[in-house]
Amino acid sequence: MRILISNDDGIYSPGIAALAEVASQFGTVHVVAPDVERSSSGHAITASRPLSSRVTRVGSLSASRVDGTPADCVALGAHLWGKVDVVLSGLNLGLNLGTSIWHSGTLAAAKQAALLGLRGVALSAPAGVDDYAELKPWLHRVLETVLPDPTLTLVNVNFPRHPRGLVWTRVSVRQYDGRIVPTEDPLGRTMYWFTVKPLVGADEGTDRWALEQGWVSLTPLTLDLTDQARLADVHRRRPLDEDRAVAMATRSSPDQARAVREDETPASLSQVAVEPEE
Ligand code: MN
Repeated sequence: MRILISNDDGIYSPGIAALAEVASQFGTVHVVAPDVERSSSGHAITASRPLSSRVTRVGSLSASRVDGTPADCVALGAHLWGKVDVVLSGLNLGLNLGTSIWHSGTLAAAKQAALLGLRGVALSAPAGVDDYAELKPWLHRVLETVLPDPTLTLVNVNFPRHPRGLVWTRVSVRQYDGRIVPTEDPLGRTMYWFTVKPLVGADEGTDRWALEQGWVSLTPLTLDLTDQARLADVHRRRPLDEDRAVAMATRSSPDQARAVREDETPASLSQVAVEPEE
């Protein structure tokens, strides 16, 4: 198995070294990661200038250091290395739970894999963990679970500090943790942090709930953001032009027309049949 590894904390993060070490037990690993931290960069790509890729090392592995975003790194890495089976992103220094998946560069690297028709797994641990000895066996178990299953094309994984087991979860979307906090620069001018506030209390079965309970959270994701239930609903309640065209075409098919004729009373038929006189 050919495993491409990236992250959003930068190629010299201890998290990516830990991930590369464990992933090496599952196949051939190549690391392609941003040269500096690109956390919270989401799924940005660098389209206004070319990218550079320079050889470096992560642990005992040869690696590529790219002056771009996590999504850039995955696209470039998959292009240059070729025949990638799966992209692993992380191990992020900080959790990526609930609505944070919209901002996460860690998840963006995994999403970029899915966009390329590859498989992507994002892996995050709590900020402040500086020794991965306790998490490595759990990381191994997650990869053992996810990698052999080709139906898992995009998965978001989060590790608590002291895991007690693994659990499948859904995304916690009911609450948003982003907020603006004003501050002052040294000259007394008002400035603003766009930061996060800790959330407590999560719905059972969600990723945030899992972490609160000490579980390793595995959330299968899809790239399709379509709200299927809402789509069916608006087709019915607020038909647009194409809905009407389809309805007309259906009505004017011979079978449909016969069905409609049989349903209608002679009175209503005569109203429909009246042609304006010349
Ligand atoms: Mn990060």
